[in-house]
This record gives sequence, C-alpha cells and structure tokens, in this order.
Amino acid sequence: MRVFKFKNMVGVTKDPTLFLLLGSIGLLLFGSIGYGIYTTVGPSSYKLRDTIKEHARLHELGIAHGHNSHNHNEADHIH
Ligand SMILES: [Zn+2]
Repeated sequence: MRVFKFKNMVGVTKDPTLFLLLGSIGLLLFGSIGYGIYTTVGPSSYKLRDTIKEHARLHELGIAHGHNSHNHNEADHIH
C-alpha cells in the first residue's frame, strides 16, 4: 500500500500535461515581462522616445524642418 501511494504521487508530479501547461504559462509570462522591460528601458526605446520628443519640440518652437528629410524617420512620425 505504501509503495502504491508513492508511485501515485510521482505520477501526479510528473504529469506531462500539467508540466507543459505550467511551463508554457511561465515562459509566456516571463517572456512578456522581459519584453516589456526591454521596450520600456531598452536602448532602442530611449532613442525612439527621444526622437519624438525632440521632434515635438521643433513644432512647439515653430522651427522649420523638413518632414521628408533623411534625418527624419517617417515611421516614428506621430502627426
Ligand atoms: Zn514634424
């Protein structure tokens, strides 16, 4: 009886379906958290935000600038 109980416990903890489910949930969670942190404090995000901020400043101050010039990334344009 003791042996049967032990075997049963091992069978529950090694359930491949549960393990896969928890594993995929954990991976998804950590992946999205990591991606969120990277996009928030990552170097590319900082550069992008800085570019938009600098651009908005040009409009606020009324400084003439070309929207089709090469130093402007049209994909980052928000207006
Ligand atoms: Zn502009």
